[in-house]
Parts: sequence; structure tokens; C-alpha cells
Amino acid sequence: MKPKKKPDTKHETGPEANAKPDLREVIRKHALENARRFNGKASPGAVIGKAISEMPELKQNMKGLAREVSLILRQVNALGAEKQTELLMEIAPELFEKKERKERDIFEFIGLGEKEKVVTAFPPEPSKYPHIGHAKAIMLNYELAKRHNGEFVLRFEDTNPRLAKKEFYEIHADNYAWLGISPDRTDYASDHMKEFYSYAEELIMKDQAYVCSCPREDVKLSRERGIACECRDMGPEESKKRFKEMETAEEGVYILRLKIDLTHRNSTMRDPTIMRIIDAKHTRTGAKYRLWPNYDFENAVMDAIEGITHRLRSKEFEMRNELQRHIQSLLGFGETRIFEFARFNMEGVESSGRIIREKIDNGELTGWDDPSLTTLVALRRRGFVPEAIKSFVLSTGITKAEATLTWDDLIAQNKRILDRECNRYFFIDDPARIKIKNAPRLELNLRLHPDFRERGSRSYTTGEDFYIAKKDADRLEEGKIYRLMDCLNFRKKGDAFNFVSAELEDYKKEGKGMLHWLPVQDSLVKTEVLMPDHSLRKGLAGPLVAGLDVGAIVQFERFGFCRLDDKNRMRFWFTH
Ligand SMILES: [Zn+2]
Repeated sequence: MKPKKKPDTKHETGPEANAKPDLREVIRKHALENARRFNGKASPGAVIGKAISEMPELKQNMKGLAREVSLILRQVNALGAEKQTELLMEIAPELFEKKERKERDIFEFIGLGEKEKVVTAFPPEPSKYPHIGHAKAIMLNYELAKRHNGEFVLRFEDTNPRLAKKEFYEIHADNYAWLGISPDRTDYASDHMKEFYSYAEELIMKDQAYVCSCPREDVKLSRERGIACECRDMGPEESKKRFKEMETAEEGVYILRLKIDLTHRNSTMRDPTIMRIIDAKHTRTGAKYRLWPNYDFENAVMDAIEGITHRLRSKEFEMRNELQRHIQSLLGFGETRIFEFARFNMEGVESSGRIIREKIDNGELTGWDDPSLTTLVALRRRGFVPEAIKSFVLSTGITKAEATLTWDDLIAQNKRILDRECNRYFFIDDPARIKIKNAPRLELNLRLHPDFRERGSRSYTTGEDFYIAKKDADRLEEGKIYRLMDCLNFRKKGDAFNFVSAELEDYKKEGKGMLHWLPVQDSLVKTEVLMPDHSLRKGLAGPLVAGLDVGAIVQFERFGFCRLDDKNRMRFWFTH
């Protein structure tokens, strides 16, 4: 590597001066990187933004920065792609390492050929709310299909009429649309009942399935002991007759079983049930059918009907895999290639549907969108954005090793996006009113976002009276200087507060703490924030907050990100 140009330090003194990166070098690096990504032409706006994020002090001389960027861009853009890459590798090799790690194909292990056909599916049962684990499964299948110009099918596995509920079809579809998934096809297993009946008959006629009339207890025992019942050998004709009878027989009288092996090492292969009688109206087909395929039969047949080639799914189905592939081979279908990954565990989050339902019923949780949960409705209502959920779930990889994930991992992804997107406001939690003696009248315009002037600002006229958070007020120390952010410095003296100055420089010298604040004025907005632990924080926010729409996510400075949930009550939900 060539020696780097020495930073120009002649105007700077002191031990830290040498550690600062050189402005031109920083600009060159970002210009080269941007050019490399956009056909050899870097854009000034992007380079300025990157340079500022690396050296925030550059904001103080935007004109100078723009001039430097324009000069350097002229040189860089003239180099051509090859030379740009070469130079960038020389001055910032770390960018290449990071890039390569990021762009590694998480599906590489599947070994797909370039032209290989890919059709994937995600099959939810419309019986409960999807959570972040479903998000992972759907996003993996969707990504795999999209990256290979394939097709993605959203399939509702709704062949248990007792469990399939109308509302959940919509909830699933809506939640996945929110995640940015647009299926090439939406399919319903309950639309394919005739096919299930005909495949069942085919299996019966091949003597690979039989209708068993034994009581449930006997069936269980025969599986444990590996002993066949009499029904097993009655032959296809008799079984077919019974199969017809199943349509009118009482629930529980007959089951259709596959004839595999009652001593099989995998217990799911011991002559499993593939169809059973369920006497309940189906939300889509009403009372038309009483004989329903069970999960494995439905899954194996639907994969074939839809032409599914690959599926990535959670490991809890591992035991069933052998059976589902066996059914596909009995019926002469191609086998779906299945890849499993570990269950998705979030630390401290209740994920059992049964327990969640209990806790909703006894009032411990507010609903399926309770802010402590990781259902998609809850994450959305709190202010988690789809891009963050996507990066988070994909970052967990396709591995069978169980790992407990933390909220912190998800929050870090979300924060990265919200930091840019969200405007800043003041919310004074549990406000305390203070008077700062001799504070001058100030007209202030505070940017809604520090990096984007174009988003506008909050205007305040301040005098001597302010609100600050009570928690902050209680902590002020005698004689120390504090600063109201972007406003003024004051000192506590006994029970009084005295104006010191407006200059940030004065605060930098001996300031003890920075506070968020609001001027005492009529137009402040009574605001409340629901926390993930269900507590409610009440306080005041600036007047502009009244103009936000439900769904807006903001950053309340020194408090956190919050999403406006209820405009009448001005209630926000705390994001993080
Ligand atoms: Zn039997």
C-alpha cells in the first residue's frame, strides 16, 4: 500500500489534532464508494451526507464542504469504474470486507443453478395472529423466490374448519402486505377439497391407505406397541365402501390412515391419519364437506398442486418431513426440497398462542397487539418498521442452532432507520415548571431533523418560564450549569435558577447536563405515552405535535421514539 498523504495539521494544535481524519481523504473515500455503486458517477448530495455523518463538525461550514466535494467529484467521476475501485481498495480496504460480508448470498447453501425454477410458499393457518417468527419464514421464502425470478405462493392451510376463522385470512394478508410481501398467487387449501378426495381414493385403491374404525385409544396403543388392527387388511374395496360412509358417519367413527409401518422409528410414520371427519361449518365452504385432510396430507398435496420446488421452514416440523415426502412419492409427485431453521425465540416474550389468549382473557395483556408482544400487529402499532424487521430476521440466518434473540438486536435495526426518518419534538414527561431569572426573550427555530433543513422547524418564543421533566428538575445540582437544548444555559442557586448565557460554547466548558424543555405557553399539547410495561407517561408536547396523523413516528428528544396511536387522547405508543 502506498503511504497515505499526511493530514494537513498546520492550523491545529494539541494532542487530538493528529487523530482527526483529513477532510479531503474522507470526501475522496465516499466519492469513490458512491461512484462505484452508481455507474461511476458519484452524486454530491450523497457524498456530503456521508462526509457529515463521519465528521459532524463539517456542518459548520457547508459552503466550504460543498466546494471541496464538487472539486473532488470532478476528479473522481473522470476516473472510470476500474480505476475508482482500485483507488478505493487502496484507501479504504475495510469497505470491501464489509460489503462482501453483506452481499453474501444467505441461500448459497441451497446450491441453486442459475436457470433453476424456484417456486416457494408460505402456508399460514388462518387461526391466530402472525408473529415475528412467521415474518422470518415468509420473508425467507419470498426472498428466495424473488432472487431467482421465481414465484411465491401465499397458501392458507385452512383444512381444519374448527380452527380457520374468517378474520384471520384478512389479518395475515394485511400483515404480510405491510411487510412488503406481494404474493404471485394466494391459494386456499379449502379450494382443493375435490383433489384431496380423489388422491385419497387413489391411495385406497393402491392399498396404501385404509379406513380404520377402531376407537381412538386402540389406535394410540397399536402405534405404541407396533401391532396392526383388523382394518389394515380389509382390502381396497371394503375401504372404499367405508370411505363413502365417512361422508355421513359420526365424527370419530372412522379415520383414513396410510399403510406404512407400525414399527417405524419415526412415530409420525406409524400408519398416520390423513383424513378425518370434522362436524363443523367451514368459514369458506360452509357445510359442504365433513371429511378433511389432516396437516401432513394437505401440505404434501398442496405443494404438488402449486408446484412448490423449495420451502424454508421452522424446525418444529422436522419430524413430519419424512411423512410429507413419503406422501408425495406415493402419489408420484416431485418432492419439495425442505430446509429447516431453528425456532425463533425472543428473550422474555410470550410466544405461546394459548398462554397469550389466557393472559388477554384475564386482562394481563391488552390484546394480540399488546406492546410487550412480537406479533406483527403489536410491532407495527409500536412503531417498528418493515425494513427493520426484515434486516433483523434475515440477519438471524438459516441455521438449526437454537439462539435466543433479544429486543436489543431488533431495536438496533429499527433505530438505524427511524433516526433518519423521524422528526424531533419535545415531550416533557411529568413536567415541572421553572423560572429562569433574567432569561432574555428568544425567538428560536429548531430543526425538525438535525440533518434535513428542508423538513422545517419548530418555532418558539421563550421568556423566563419553562417546563422541564420533573425527573430532570429533581437532579439539578447547586451551582452547576445546565443547558436547555438549543436555547440557553442556566445555573441553579438555592431554589432559584439564573440565566447564564445562550452560547453553546459556554455550556461546553463547564456544563453539567443538557435538558429538553418547553416554554410555558397556552398551545402546548397534553400528551401521553403508553410504555411496553403498560404504564402510561403523561406530560406536555410542543404545539406541532397536534398536527401529526395517527401512525406518525417521532423522536421525543431524550425520551425515545414513539408512534401516534390515538389522536383524540394524543396517546403515543413507546417504540424504544
Ligand atoms: Zn382399525
